[in-house]
Order: sequence, then C-alpha cells, then structure tokens
Amino acid sequence: MANKMLKFVDLARAMPDKRTVDTRRQDFGEIYEEYDPIAAKAQASRCSQCGVPFCQVHCPLHNNIPDWLMLTAEGRLREAYEMSQSTNNFPEICGRICPQDRLCEGNCVIEQAGHGTVTIGSVEKYITDTAWEEGWVEPVKPVKERGESIGIVGAGPAGLAAAEELRRKGYQAHVYDRYDRVGGLMIYGIPNFKLEKEIVQRRSDLLERGGVQFHLNSDVGGALSFAELRERHDAVLIATGVYKARDIKVPGIGLDNVFAAMDFLTASNRKGLGDSVPAFDDGTLNAAGKSVVVIGGGDTAMDCVRTAVRQGAKAVRCLYRRDRKNMPGSQREVANAEEEGVEFVWLSAPEAVLGDGKAEALRAQRVHLGMPDATGRQTPQILEGSSFSVEADIVIKALGFDPEDLPRLFDTPGLEVTRWGTVKTDFSTLMTNLDGVFAAGDIVRGASLVVWAVRDGRDAAEQIHRYLQTKPAAAAVAAE
Ligand code: SF4
Repeated sequence: MANKMLKFVDLARAMPDKRTVDTRRQDFGEIYEEYDPIAAKAQASRCSQCGVPFCQVHCPLHNNIPDWLMLTAEGRLREAYEMSQSTNNFPEICGRICPQDRLCEGNCVIEQAGHGTVTIGSVEKYITDTAWEEGWVEPVKPVKERGESIGIVGAGPAGLAAAEELRRKGYQAHVYDRYDRVGGLMIYGIPNFKLEKEIVQRRSDLLERGGVQFHLNSDVGGALSFAELRERHDAVLIATGVYKARDIKVPGIGLDNVFAAMDFLTASNRKGLGDSVPAFDDGTLNAAGKSVVVIGGGDTAMDCVRTAVRQGAKAVRCLYRRDRKNMPGSQREVANAEEEGVEFVWLSAPEAVLGDGKAEALRAQRVHLGMPDATGRQTPQILEGSSFSVEADIVIKALGFDPEDLPRLFDTPGLEVTRWGTVKTDFSTLMTNLDGVFAAGDIVRGASLVVWAVRDGRDAAEQIHRYLQTKPAAAAVAAE
C-alpha cells in the first residue's frame, strides 16, 4: 500500500477541470468535468491513510473514505464502489452536492497541514459514475420478503434512503409524495448545474426496480388522510422535509416580482424537465434581461443567483447581512458564483423593496458585526444613515425554510412538535409520540444537508425494523 499512497508530498491537489465561465453561463449543464482514470487514481493516492481519519469522522455517514481512496489508487474500482455504497445510498449525489469544504475535505489532515485536501468528493463521484457505466449498480435484492409494510411520506433523500434500507430487509416500502416526481428537493430545488436530473431519475428507477412502490401526486393530509395511512401500514415514516419559506418584514415585500427562492428554482427546474410553466413562459419567473437581487447567504441563495445568471439576467447581486467568512453557504459555491459574474453585497440588510405595484429597487442598510451571541456568531448591527439602493426587477427571498404545521396539515393534533414546529422524536428510537409513527430528515432536524437526510433515513429504517421485530413480542406480553 505504502508506495501507492501518501503522494500528497509530490502531487498537488487537482479538481476535475471546470467548464469555462463563458460556456457554463450559457446552459444548465454540470460545471465540473469527470476525472479520467489516471487523474482519479493519482488524486486518490494523495491520501495519507490517517490512523484517525478526520475526513470520516466529519462525514455524517462516516463513509470509509481512506479505504475507498486506497482501493481507487490501486485501480480496484469495483471494490471501492462496493465499500462506498455500503454506507451511502446515493454516493454520486453526495459527491456532487455535499459541501465537502465544510465536511470531509475541510477536515482532511493534509489540508490542515497546508498541502491541499484530498479531492474526496470528486473521487466519490468518479467511483460511482464509473459503477453506473459498468453496470455495477444494482437494485436491492432482499434475502427474504416480509409481509409488513411501511408508509413513507416524502420522496426526498431521507424517505428514499429509508425506503431502500427497508427493502433491503425485505419490508414493503411505499413512498407517498405530493409532487409528480421522485426526489423532493433534489429534483425541484437543486439546479442542474450542481445535480443533473437524470442522476436523480436513474436512482428512482433503481429503487422502483428494487420493489419500492411510489405513490406520486399523493397528498397526505388531503385526499389521503394521515389516519388512513396509519391504517394501511404497519409503520409510518414522516420524511416531508421543510418547505415553508421564511419571510422578512420590510415595507414593499408584498410587491409583485418578489418571490420565494423555491418558487423561482422550481420553475427553472420544471422548465429544464420539459414541463409547461406558465409563470416562467410569460416572463414572471424568468430573470432574462432583468436585474436580480437575492437576499440570503446559504446554498439556496447560491443556487438562485447562479440560476439567474444562466437565465440571462442583466445583473445579479446577492445581499447578505454578514461577511464572506460568516456565511453559511459553501465557499466553493460562492467562488463559482463570483466567477460567473455574481456581485456579492456583504454586510448589508434589506430595508425596503421600492416600486409602484412591482419591485423596481431594493433599499438596504450597511451592517457592522458586533459581539458574538450565545451561538458564537457575531451579531449584525445596522449602521444608521447608511442606506443605499440597488436596482431590482426581481427580488428573491432565500432566507431559509421552516416546517409546515404538520399536526394541522395531517389533521393529527396529537402529533407532538417542538417550538420550532419540527416533529419531536425519541432520540434513541426515532419514534414520535404516536405509536409506530417515525420521523426523519429536515422535518426533525430543521433545514439541513442532503447527506444528513440520508443518514437520518438510514437510521430511521433501522429503528423501524427494530420496532417491527419487537412489536409482536410486546403485544403478546401485553395480552398475557
Ligand atoms: Fe486521507 Fe485526508 Fe482522510 Fe487523512 S483526512 S485519511 S489524508 S482523506
């Protein structure tokens, strides 16, 4: 092994090539090229095979990163794939959209030592894309079928990971989603330039071939009551995600052409999928030729600004109340956005949307970062008299997401939620206060990363299995 690894001393970090800014601004294709086999092997060989691999420690899935890097460096790609998929249901998706600079790569020991991180995400993507090309990715094949069925509400990453793991154990997994496609945020939220839709669609086809049954356009709480869902299944998993857009209270926020981020992104993604989107076709949700201001500093804000660029916006600005160092979005995405022509207006808070009926400009105030609060983050403080205005034909609010009111939506007032509206679960069993009803993903932890949703979905599947395995015994004891 030793001669194949530890090459970081002589070999510099090299990401796969990026398409030129001019070409990528013209379309929605992914911006990174694929490694060729030689580059993938070479980059994997930079790993120093740490005794305590901080990359793995900081991966929510605890992926066996050093092991699959070594297998890649040795050219044993199929084994690398088998190892990578053993802890992650969607490695090619995580390889594309995880903010590795905040997780594995940001904690890589050789990054800390100043040599530049191992390009873990790109190698992960290369391994799994190769596996798909070679036909190594196969649907789950349960050793034995079980009669019990589980109703999963939500076809996003948590629901899908749980469905696959439950099928692996032989359960009948039924996934319900109110939308018409499988994938949740991965299909309608994340733009193609980060995650092309066929990547998600081939996963959903694979799950279907593995026996997962999808019930799309199925509105739990609407046409299908939550009580009926519980009747139908031996256990239920709530994995709806969080979709309610956070708002800001400033004058003019109700003007036309002020949109929630998800409305803007969904319209764009639906267009890309070939759907008819009247609000895009009539120009309302199309940024072409317009000045766009996006408010927010997270990954959703980055997705919005970069989508607006590709739609042909005249100018795209991102307004954020903290500075670059303190923004929650991935630094890599900020750099990509800047390359593509997005202007960042740091340390600025919206004061009012100006316009006559529809947005024409955004007035903002300069901000100073004060003392850290209880969470350790510096508190933004408005600098009086610092108002300024920027042109804005479209204003997009990308301020985060809150949970919908599930007890009301599901007509189940007994379902316990936290004061933030997320569903309360027992930390060890992941079950809600309702017997046989579990919850996972953003609806429990609040808006978070896809990789955390995958982790939560896997954990929930394990707990549902335990619950179903012990239930008959518990029922028998109670009957005695
Ligand atoms: Fe390899 Fe970096 Fe992980 Fe260490 S922390 S095992 S060098 S990838």
